[in-house]
Amino acid sequence: MVYLVEHFYSIQGEGKFVGTPSVFFRFGGCNLRCQDFGEYFVKGKIVYGCDTVRAVNKEIFQNEWKRIENEKVLIEILDDYIENLDFKPHIVITGGEPMIYATDSIFYKFIQYLVNNDFIVTIETNATIKVDIEKFSAYKDVIFAMAVKLSNSGEPYDKRVNKEVIKEYINNTSYSFFKFTLDRGIIERRAFEEIVDIVEPYPEAEIFCMPLGDKQDIIKKHDKAVAEFCLIYGFIYSDRLHVRLWNREKKR
Ligand code: SF4
Repeated sequence: MVYLVEHFYSIQGEGKFVGTPSVFFRFGGCNLRCQDFGEYFVKGKIVYGCDTVRAVNKEIFQNEWKRIENEKVLIEILDDYIENLDFKPHIVITGGEPMIYATDSIFYKFIQYLVNNDFIVTIETNATIKVDIEKFSAYKDVIFAMAVKLSNSGEPYDKRVNKEVIKEYINNTSYSFFKFTLDRGIIERRAFEEIVDIVEPYPEAEIFCMPLGDKQDIIKKHDKAVAEFCLIYGFIYSDRLHVRLWNREKKR
């Protein structure tokens, strides 16, 4: 059994495939909280967390969480999006942290369906959930967008960095990449050292750095510092194109 928070058709706004038409499936639940990423005023309360806080806090956002009891429901949702398209959009599996469902039979059968039908599938993950990819071999055919969290998330190192998991994902897929969220503060402190600690064993992996923020004015506070940081260290700047275009609009 899995929880789906939302699904929508839009362009990918971040990372390697920026601008690519994609169907997004956002699953509910996460093993982290990332309290330092932002604060939101929800139903009379301040909630701390990331830009997908509603996919992390089931207790507060339970009305938006839909229980999925069969993978056919997910396939039907996809069919509705693609029936009028003459091409195959990318599929983005996101959250929350979708890999909390990695071995769930409904979730896994959906991933199998996607890769068996030649969809290009990206799973956006914090890369902390261990999965035996030899056993769950459909994951060999997905792309992991590994958004490993840095100290600016507020999570302790041992929770946010799992090098065994990163190794498993990179060594068992033909292409996966890193995507880090940076703000001015961490750039001034030790962003480079933190990133090197994570990526050093993988000199071939592409490293994208993007500014913190889910609102245009917040992104503008950090974007130039992130771009300058990328120019110094040879990382790839990733904007948050969906935020530039649509700000905080839902399903974008
Ligand atoms: S890991 Fe991602 S989804 Fe989970 S709390 Fe952190 S930013 Fe949000």
